[in-house]
Amino acid sequence: MLFCEPCRVKKNWTRSSGYPYIGFRASEKCEVCGKVGECHDIPAIRLVPKNEMTFEQKTVDKIMQQGYRQKAENLVVSRPNGQPWPDMTVEIQSSFARRDGEIDWFDTFELRVALREQIQNAEARRKHVL
Ligand SMILES: [Zn+2]
Repeated sequence: MLFCEPCRVKKNWTRSSGYPYIGFRASEKCEVCGKVGECHDIPAIRLVPKNEMTFEQKTVDKIMQQGYRQKAENLVVSRPNGQPWPDMTVEIQSSFARRDGEIDWFDTFELRVALREQIQNAEARRKHVL
């Protein structure tokens, strides 16, 4: 779900645990007030506090966490030539996003994807300069 900062404050919704590196977009339409601008991008289920979740919502959250855990653990960094890059893979695999002290796999996946992009872009620029 996309929503702007004023709407987030009004509704007392959470930000991404990896904010502002993940869970944030520069130009989107707020789904609450309709204004276009910087928006948080958070799955709707995340906006329900854990202690207010129904059994069904808890189940959906658990399945989502398991799916993203697998996706996060399978992420691999490649060199610009497409070869695997084990050192950098270890680097992103040691990054975790936590929420209330627990690893949040959805945020961890997004964080690792953002890190991988940063590493690969930096390497591509370095190669270009040399
Ligand atoms: Zn808004």
